Amino acid sequence: MKKELYRNQILAIKPYVPGKPVEEVERELGISGAIKLASNENPLGPSPLAVAAMQKCLAKVSFYPDGNCYYLKEALSRHWDLPPECFIIGNGSDEILSFITAAFLNEGEEAVMAHPSFSEYDFAVKIMGGITVPVPLKNYTHDLPAMAAAVTGETKLIFICNPNNPTGTMVGKNEVAALLQDLPEHVIAVLDEAYFEYVTDPAYGESLDFVREGRNVIVLRTFSKIYGLAGLRVGYGMARPDLIGSLLRVKEPFNVNLLAQAAALAALDDREHVEKSRWLNEEGKQYLAAEFNRLGLFFAPTHANFIWVRVGVDCKQLFAKLLRRGVIIRTGDIFGAPDVIRVTIGTPEQNRRFISELAAVLAEDKH
Ligand SMILES: *Cc1c(COP(=O)(O)O)cnc(C)c1O
Repeated sequence: MKKELYRNQILAIKPYVPGKPVEEVERELGISGAIKLASNENPLGPSPLAVAAMQKCLAKVSFYPDGNCYYLKEALSRHWDLPPECFIIGNGSDEILSFITAAFLNEGEEAVMAHPSFSEYDFAVKIMGGITVPVPLKNYTHDLPAMAAAVTGETKLIFICNPNNPTGTMVGKNEVAALLQDLPEHVIAVLDEAYFEYVTDPAYGESLDFVREGRNVIVLRTFSKIYGLAGLRVGYGMARPDLIGSLLRVKEPFNVNLLAQAAALAALDDREHVEKSRWLNEEGKQYLAAEFNRLGLFFAPTHANFIWVRVGVDCKQLFAKLLRRGVIIRTGDIFGAPDVIRVTIGTPEQNRRFISELAAVLAEDKH
């Protein structure tokens, strides 16, 4: 029998489609001054403290970084009042998703997740030969009872993206608690809270209580979103020490680079930058909601720094037209919604520019 060149699993994986970088758009279209509202990055940029911290250790990059991220873990431990053994630091929380499936998922085991949701869950599950069990959103929100009902004897993982990417909706702590209550012991719940710092609804609560109670829960957070350090790749997971111990077994020794560790450490203490970013986001959220209403466009209620908007036209064509006008957004088709776009909330100026270009393109379509 002929041997296949590839592992069976990889043929089931669709390559990730990232948001287009500004430089690529400007190069390809021969334009300048493009704005990117496609990847939920912080429009205020990184914390100035993080930039200064990196500048201070630039000359140290001839050394390997601390593979244990000692100082960052200590700082996070104080920040969240959780022992350092409860933390794992990743090259983005994306990397921790891969650790989770590598550590827990045997070939053929199932992982329950919402659809549409963050595409990296599907990727991390499939690369290990696991089976993705998608559960449709209800009202743009995780349908936790339906997700609980999708759990079988073969289920190992259940992913809850909260707030959900791409819809921005959230589930409250009580609903998550009810789900956890009924989960069998062979299931680990992954609570991906990449947009945690943007949430202002008190019903969201603090999921670290589940970790403190010793449940089968891994909470993921990141420095890529409100902290504005997406380009450095730092995220972290919090869980019981035994769960963290299994993730550490599948981690490369020096997964988080030296500049990233220094920047994350400094950014964590920059409360002013976080507050300012959250405030700017709230303001942008209100502005965009009012404008979408004015334009008669439905949007899902967001708790994050992006909005899922039903534009009522083919999203790929809209994307191309906006691109030519220098505005980069994300299309819904990759999430199975061909008449929807996802737009990151930007600075007031970027939001105004996005709305004026969107209105112009939609008006063109009407003629
Ligand atoms: C952006 C994002 C992440 C991860 O980002 P990293 O940059 O890898 O830390 C994780 N989950 C969701 C839902 C996201 O939107």
